[in-house]
Amino acid sequence: MNITVLNNDENEMIFTLEKTTPAFANTIRRLYIDEVPTLAIEDVEFRQNSSIHYDETVAHRLGLMPIKTDLKSYNLPDKCKCEGEGCAQCQLKMKLNVTGPAEVIAKDVKSTDPKATLIHDKTPIVKLLKDQAIELEATAVLGKGRNHMKWSPGHMYYKYMPKIAIGTVTNVDEVVECCPKGVFEKKGGKVSIVKNKLFDCHLCGACEKVSGGTVKLEPSGTDFIVCAESWGQLSVKDALLETCAIMDEKLTEFAKLLKK
Ligand code: SF4
Ligand SMILES: [Zn+2]
Repeated sequence: MNITVLNNDENEMIFTLEKTTPAFANTIRRLYIDEVPTLAIEDVEFRQNSSIHYDETVAHRLGLMPIKTDLKSYNLPDKCKCEGEGCAQCQLKMKLNVTGPAEVIAKDVKSTDPKATLIHDKTPIVKLLKDQAIELEATAVLGKGRNHMKWSPGHMYYKYMPKIAIGTVTNVDEVVECCPKGVFEKKGGKVSIVKNKLFDCHLCGACEKVSGGTVKLEPSGTDFIVCAESWGQLSVKDALLETCAIMDEKLTEFAKLLKK
């Protein structure tokens, strides 16, 4: 299998997976979305809430806010030494205490771990009028996207790598213009593919149709273009490394069971 990274930043990585199968690409996608753990608020204890929103609405909103996660600092509750009782190794406490008038935003939520804070500071939580107040303590835990999407580290999708063969095209301008992704350009009176633009092709088939079949398009059955995005809890690179570790762990367990 060959892997080529086409684009890599903190929150998005695009890479090719070559000489593999759709099942393998999909396994990586499922593990990434469903199995990589992140922190999210699971319990909220309200001391006071005289805002216009019910406790449940505020708690739901808090639960969906991504939290910067260091996987080395926290254990999954069912794998912690405390056996799910709750301790500093598997729980993160956060506090919110604001009196109106104010717009309560994510930045007002104070975490007991400075490395594990809500990521998007300005996300609104609730608006308080004069003398309205909100006071609560929230508990965040590690969890997995397969139990609730609030724990998912991001989104991953893939598409088949296009294979394009350009024959003798007579309507060059029309073919170049028909592509919604700007894959083609006119070079020396012929249709040619713009450098690195092939990866943008979404296999719509317009070029084949407009060219009357002189441009041939075929999705590869063995090569894929994969895009992994992160919601911010983990960098996309860390989430992918964790995906690989989880796959290793599952295969090792499978091999052990086979040997029994
Ligand atoms: S299939 Fe569609 S997107 Fe891909 S090169 Fe042809 S026209 Fe462009
Ligand atoms: Zn614990």
